[in-house]
Amino acid sequence: MSAIGTLYVVSAPSGAGKSSLIKAYLEQQNDKLTGVSVSHTTREPRPGEENGKHYHFVTQDEFKQLIEQQAFFEWAEVFGNFYGTSKLAIDEQLNNGIDVFLDIDWQGARQVKQAMPQSKTIFILPPSKAELERRLTGRGQDSAETIAKRMDKAQSEMSHFNEFDYVIINDDFDQALSDMTAILRAERTKQTKQAKKYHNLLQDLLA
Ligand code: 5GP
Repeated sequence: MSAIGTLYVVSAPSGAGKSSLIKAYLEQQNDKLTGVSVSHTTREPRPGEENGKHYHFVTQDEFKQLIEQQAFFEWAEVFGNFYGTSKLAIDEQLNNGIDVFLDIDWQGARQVKQAMPQSKTIFILPPSKAELERRLTGRGQDSAETIAKRMDKAQSEMSHFNEFDYVIINDDFDQALSDMTAILRAERTKQTKQAKKYHNLLQDLLA
């Protein structure tokens, strides 16, 4: 029997470096053992975002239809827009033994943990409030009010850090990436997972 992949839910406030960490992890591994889930969202695409790659961009009506069709594994309203992970986005990969990253908010993380208790949840935190503010300030083109709003959103997301299995502080990026790698490596070497993956070897060794 081949191994079933593990779901890794990664949540963080905007500015903590969540997407960069997932991207760097995938590039570093480059082993086709880990994939990402592409979510559906009702928000407008940002410059450079591609439909089907970064998100499946849909209308509110389309999103509601998908909810009625029970197409979502989890969904949530995040700061005024709808976001959801479709069952399609994860099932095939998991069934092929591929681990899947979900870059979703704390509400989604909670639903995933309930539906799939064996999933692992990781929260990324910035090293300080000042650094978070610096990262959220961007290129200095936003008003103080906009930045204050972003800080409020970040704080509301961060207040849920204690619902997660693992916490990574993203101060030094390479250290944070190494922490992420350690979490996935430890999960993959769990006895129950190895027993399934190396079924034939074990039969041979123990015969
Ligand atoms: P953004 O609009 O900046 O891409 O994402 C806003 C927030 O929505 C982020 O915290 C992101 O992790 C979250 N998000 C993205 N996709 C999903 C999803 O499928 N489900 C849930 N619950 N949250 C999501």
